[in-house]
Amino acid sequence: MTPSLTDTSTLREAGTVLLPGDSGFEAATTPWNLAVVQRPAAVAVPRSADEVARVVTAATALGLRVAPQSTGHGAAALAFGSLADVVLVRLHELTGVRIDPVARTARVLGGTLWRDVVAAASPHGLAALHGSAGDVAVAGYVLGGGLSFYGRAHGLASSHVRAVELVTADGTIVRASADDHADLFWALRGGGGNFGVVVALEIDLVPVADVVAGMLLWDLTRAPEVTRAWARWTADLPDSTTTSLRFLRFPPDPELPPFLSGRSLVVIDGAILEDDGHAAELLAPLRALAPEVDTFARIPAAGLVDVHMDPPGPVPGVSDHAMLAELPDAAIDALLEVAGPGVELPLMCAELRHLGGALARPGVGALSRLDGAYALFALSPAPTPEMASIGESVTTAVVAALESWTNGSTLLNFADRAIDVATGFEADAWARLVEVRRTVDPDGVFAAAHPIGDRR
Ligand SMILES: Cc1cc2nc3c(=O)[nH]c(=O)nc-3n(C[C@H](O)[C@H](O)[C@H](O)COP(=O)(O)OP(=O)(O)OC[C@H]3O[C@@H](n4cnc5c(N)ncnc54)[C@H](O)[C@@H]3O)c2cc1C
Repeated sequence: MTPSLTDTSTLREAGTVLLPGDSGFEAATTPWNLAVVQRPAAVAVPRSADEVARVVTAATALGLRVAPQSTGHGAAALAFGSLADVVLVRLHELTGVRIDPVARTARVLGGTLWRDVVAAASPHGLAALHGSAGDVAVAGYVLGGGLSFYGRAHGLASSHVRAVELVTADGTIVRASADDHADLFWALRGGGGNFGVVVALEIDLVPVADVVAGMLLWDLTRAPEVTRAWARWTADLPDSTTTSLRFLRFPPDPELPPFLSGRSLVVIDGAILEDDGHAAELLAPLRALAPEVDTFARIPAAGLVDVHMDPPGPVPGVSDHAMLAELPDAAIDALLEVAGPGVELPLMCAELRHLGGALARPGVGALSRLDGAYALFALSPAPTPEMASIGESVTTAVVAALESWTNGSTLLNFADRAIDVATGFEADAWARLVEVRRTVDPDGVFAAAHPIGDRR
């Protein structure tokens, strides 16, 4: 259903709301993932929690649903549902960070980016459990679990949340914590944007002022030996160390540094929470492979957000993902076959993130741990619909090649496809999530990237 012209006046009165045809509508609906075109009934760009509440109230009175979106990094997953009856609530104007250095917490507003939290925390010798990209928002990342380079030491970011403030389906602002709305608080930590528009979060920070972090880089022709060495290395590592291994293909681009432009590479990067001596001992087997570039060194914790070299701004991309139970030589051979040296495909990145450690131990919330030894992620550029379609086949093929070693679970933050969302959770957690959704949002007002219950 789309609102009639008479209907829309109440929506417009609720705040900054743009309708199709309004100047600024295209810009306001453009997500970070530029491969996705979003066509909602309306888009709201609120500047306060009260404005969010007014928009939710006006939208539901019109029979419209509401999709919270902070950046649109996860827009591909949201786009599998129809947005024709949805008010998209973009939160990029509702940002801000307040650090409490004594309690070691940060209070962040709904659309705040990780890079702003990292910058605010670091002068206090504190770090946040951010992911690989500074322009991902705290809200979407934490609501989906949050896998960071501190993950094997500290667990999922969602296990380090003190409170979540959100506008629920009836337009009220609720503060969910261990003491208030405890069921909802449990569901929010992993259950995504299914329960309301998050307008603020209180998260724990960790006392990390500096960290040994960086990358090791080789030409992709070295991938067979480097990948085998990394797999052996990760099999026996302390929880202090969290790394990823990627096959990367860069187009010739004068804006890229020469060691990246036009090159195909294998890159290991991440963080090691050890003193310099122990970190050097841990890195020795990888350094023995004579990387062409080695940037591992002690750096201010704020620098970790740049180590993974994620795109500095919005890009069009399609991806696929699976969780691997193990990474034996046969799995590495299968990966090399589809994505290794000599393979000429539009595959920007084939990535393995090392899991285990605290990520495997039960934390708190609906997603309390990750089941799997490695998370596989494949990404192709998608500047045109034709390239998107090719990229879908290429990334599907990467995941399919490793199917024998997948465990059937999904890290929803890495899932841009239309998947069975239940695979993101243990069976009892999924059943409880469905129940909490039924209680908190009985009419299915919220449209989330990964819907709990039926997708509309
Ligand atoms: C380059 C890149 C690097 C990444 N690196 C990592 C990583 O290292 N670790 C990791 O775990 N993930 C990573 N991700 C995945 C990322 O965490 C998810 O895409 C996440 O959903 C992005 O959150 P967002 O709010 O920025 O995106 P959005 O697309 O805005 O949000 C995704 C979904 O989250 C929910 N949501 C977002 N904001 C709100 C809100 N204020 N209130 C209620 N619901 C909300 C909604 O359901 C929304 O559809 C990466 C993604 C990219 C593209």
